[in-house]
Formats: sequence, C-alpha cells, structure tokens
Amino acid sequence: MSSLQPVRGTQDLLPEDARRHRAVGEAARSLAERYGFAEISTPIFEFTDVFSRTLGDTSDIVTKEMYTFERSGESITLRPEGTAGVARAFISNGLGQSVPLKVFYRGPMFRYERPQKGRQRQFHQVGVELLGVESPQADVEVIALGAHLLDELGLAGKTVLELNTLGDAESRAAYREALVGYLSPKSGSLSEDSRARLERNPLRILDSKDEGDRAVVAGAPLFTDFLNEASRVFFHRLQDGLTALGIPFTVNPRLVRGLDYYCHTAFEFTTTALGAQGTVLAGGRYDGLIKMMGGPQTPGIGWAAGVERLAMLLEAPPAPLRPIAVVPVGAQAERTALVLAHRLRRAAFAVDLGYSGNPAKRMKRADKIGARAAVIFGEDELARDAVTVRDLETGEQQLVAMSALEDHLTRFR
Ligand code: ATP
Ligand code: MG
Repeated sequence: MSSLQPVRGTQDLLPEDARRHRAVGEAARSLAERYGFAEISTPIFEFTDVFSRTLGDTSDIVTKEMYTFERSGESITLRPEGTAGVARAFISNGLGQSVPLKVFYRGPMFRYERPQKGRQRQFHQVGVELLGVESPQADVEVIALGAHLLDELGLAGKTVLELNTLGDAESRAAYREALVGYLSPKSGSLSEDSRARLERNPLRILDSKDEGDRAVVAGAPLFTDFLNEASRVFFHRLQDGLTALGIPFTVNPRLVRGLDYYCHTAFEFTTTALGAQGTVLAGGRYDGLIKMMGGPQTPGIGWAAGVERLAMLLEAPPAPLRPIAVVPVGAQAERTALVLAHRLRRAAFAVDLGYSGNPAKRMKRADKIGARAAVIFGEDELARDAVTVRDLETGEQQLVAMSALEDHLTRFR
C-alpha cells in the first residue's frame, strides 16, 4: 500500500471523467426540475442510527458495507445511500406540512464493497424522492422520470425496465409465511447469510447473489400469488399508467429490492453492457419508512441511479468548452494580455491565456486545448488600437478594432 495511491475503491475524476459525470448529473438535475423535483442536499455523514434503523439490520449495507466511526462518543456513518438522509431531513425540518414533497439529490455515497468494474467504495448517485402521495400515479411519474433520463442520455436502447410488486403489509405477511414454509426444510442448502435472514427477513433471500441460494430460490412460491385485492389493483394501475406513457417494461416476480423498507412497487433499469454490475437505476415505494423513523405516516417513492455506471455507458464524453486564446507578441503586448483576457472573461467568453513562451509555442497550446479562435496582437496592432483575430478552424484572420472585439468574437461562442 502506498500513500500516493488513491484508497482502494476510490478514484480521481480527471477532466474527461468529470465531464462525463457532470453530463449525467446535469441531465438528471434539469429533467428532475422539469418534473417538479427541487434539488436538496443533505450531509454526507449522519448518525449511524439513521441508516441502521431504516435499512434494516439484516441488509448487506448495514451488516457489511458501512463506513462507521466514532467522534465525541457519537457513532457517525458516511452515507451509503440517499433515501434515509432525505427522510431524516423531512422529519427534522418538519416538512410533514409540505407534502407532496418532490426532491432531487446528487452526491457521493460510500460502501465498503469489493471493488470491480462499476462497483466502487466511493461512488456517486443521483436520485429523487416523492413524499406524501399514496396513489400509483406517483410511481408512474417517478418511473417515467427515470426512463426519460436514460432516454436523454442516449441509453434507452441499452436498458430494460423490470418491475415487481411487494404488495402491502398484509400481502407481505401472507407471502412471508409461505416463503418460510418453503425455505425452512431447505435451510441446509442456504448460505450462512441467508440462514440468518430466514427468521428476521426471509424476503431478502430472494435478492441473494449466492449461487446455492439462487438454486433454492428458483423453486420458491411467487409473490404474485399472495397479493390481496388492494395490492393487485395498485399494481395494475401502475402498469396501466406506464403503458399509457409508452414505457416498456417486463414483470420480474423475482425482483426484490435490497432494503427492508420497500412495499408495492419495486423496479430496476438494467443493462447487459456493464457485465455483472448491470443495474443502473433502481427504486421503489417505501410507505412505512418515515413513520418508522419517528415522523408522521407519510408514503414515499423514489429511485437512485449510479452515476459511474451511467457515465461509462455514454458513447462520447461531452466536448470541453472551446476557449478564445489570447496570444501577445512582445513585452508590451504581454502586459496588455492579462487586461484583455480579464475584459473578455467579464464579457462571458471562456479565455485561455498562455503564460509564457514565444507566439509559436502559444499558438501550439491554443491548438492543443481546442481553442476556437486566437486573439493575436503585438506593438503594431496595439498602435492601431486593434488586434488580429484568427479563426482556428478555417485559418482566416482579420484585423478587428479593440472597441469591436466582443461583437466580433460572438460568432465563436
Ligand atoms: P447492486 O445490486 O449493484 O449492489 P444495489 O441494490 O446495492 O446495487 P442501490 O442501493 O439500489 O444498489 O443503489 C442504486 C444504484 O446505485 C445502483 O443501481 C447502482 O447503479 C449504484 N450503485 C450501488 N452501489 C454501487 C457501488 N458500490 N459502486 C457504484 N455504483 C453503485
Ligand atoms: Mg449493493
């Protein structure tokens, strides 16, 4: 281990990567805004309780993946996901009166996982939460926003939407009983993790990635057969809504979300283009979460998307901004260059100022950074109160009066 390497599972985002990430984040933010979701930002760390109580003490995140440390006798955890912090903020800020509340968030998340392609220990999510609406209309709208985002990023053709229902509390209790009845005699073939979950949270076994577990689970009873009337109607209305919007989906009765607080809707947009880490955007309904945390009974639905995974799928990174290069020739011009660059930047142009070197070297740099045009001037130009502007795409150049420079450069924006 060298202290000059980034910590395992973390990575630097050099400018091209950062541009990809920003393209994902900005597309998500502006679309979310279009759907009426306002951006909020909660702290990157919270009291450990916020996560351990909401994610459930049998979830992978809580049992294995949290970055937890102690400070002044308080247990603090780096957030592994966004929903718990948003729910906590909803309660601490007394937002119970402001429902329906629609929020968008983005930022880094931390999970101690085995790093591999598309799986880091520090990664980023964008996500939305819609609080206070019981109707499946909310589910349709939230899923439509997710589908729209993938479309906007050019990924609609590379992803599919899988959908399932976990029903209401009554349906889940009935299913749980049937599932435990099926799994108990086979517990010898289950992984240790799954055996531990058999009593506390058997539904999570359906989500196991262990090969042996998967084989056992393949024959398990299906949730759909245990849904009560109300849950069935809810699920139908959701599917009708998606169909009305032309959003294709498949029902996957084996789909359960990793977290304990979900009910009714569970969904994932997946791709085969990323190997094993195929889920790019996932979410569900969590009607019991806020009450369980000590707030007013408030239904909720949301999703989170992995920014790294989406960024990897983008065909071409968005192009960097093409600046105007300011190229002085000679000592007198050198002094004017900084003033001129400042003036153009104040006029909202992106400007690159080579700091040293002869004009040829500076023109080379202008080329290298993809400058769109160069503003070149020496004593001659300055004596005439003008500069030479060269279009770096066509090579054409023109003498332009200082006073008309901003006007002239507008064509290169
Ligand atoms: P997975 O099944 O891949 O472990 P998950 O169910 O743990 O995913 P969620 O908690 O639903 O994931 O998080 C939503 C999204 O965040 C995932 O679909 C994925 O795109 C992204 N994500 C989750 N964990 C990581 C990670 N360790 N590194 C990169 N992206 C991640
Ligand atoms: Mg995971």
